[in-house]
Amino acid sequence: MAVIEVRDLHKRYGDTVAVDDVSLTVEEGEIFGILGPNGAGKTTTVECIEGVRAADRGSISVLGLDPMRDRQELTRVLGAQLQEGQIPERLQVAEALELYSSFYPSPADWRSLMADLDLTSKARTRYGKLSGGQKQRLSIALALIGNPKVAILDELTTGLDPQARRDTWALIKRVRENGTTIVLVTHFMEEAERLCDRLALIDAGRVVTVDTPQGLIARVGGEKTSLEDAFIQLTRKGLS
Ligand code: ADP
Repeated sequence: MAVIEVRDLHKRYGDTVAVDDVSLTVEEGEIFGILGPNGAGKTTTVECIEGVRAADRGSISVLGLDPMRDRQELTRVLGAQLQEGQIPERLQVAEALELYSSFYPSPADWRSLMADLDLTSKARTRYGKLSGGQKQRLSIALALIGNPKVAILDELTTGLDPQARRDTWALIKRVRENGTTIVLVTHFMEEAERLCDRLALIDAGRVVTVDTPQGLIARVGGEKTSLEDAFIQLTRKGLS
């Protein structure tokens, strides 16, 4: 069953076409990656899916809801990372988790989420005093706090050290096993390869192709081909 259906999504900022008729379908229970270089239109696409940005044209359905029209209903079933500036600086980690969990009818256990993201020792630290990696981990926890049916994670592990990155990947796999469909925006090959069931390669606002990581690699051939080689061959560009 399709959980997210995006059809012919188009968005421009002034003269810049950020998203140029993107269509994609995300199936229930999968980890769907959106992979592409900076400026490809990934964030704009997922912001339209989250209902925080209006598209110029095209249609989006998330669990049968229209993200702009049904925004309130959508926030109950969709988890997204909050950006810096959206979390009050003076709020402590545990306070933030407890507060946000109170917004949902059947939230995740915020204490175990705090432990999963290695934030227990920071429970009484104010948000404004956290390091970049700790803020990132808190934003992941807040995206998952409502036990969402769909979680959208943009640059999941950017700024995390290798151990935190591996722990976060393991957590995301567990969250998926519990039934959450996950959309992962990344420009990080290893993350795409290890986590995603299917990937949409996006370049210059367009979907180049959608396939499994193995399918993409097989398509460009050769045993030693990596996902990065496949990306370069299919887009004629690198990721950075
Ligand atoms: P990505 O997430 O793949 O890096 P974005 O969706 O952030 O891509 O950006 C796509 C294009 O739109 C880029 O050229 C970017 O500079 C431009 N863009 C993104 N947000 C804005 C904005 N708020 N105002 C103007 N241009 C924007």
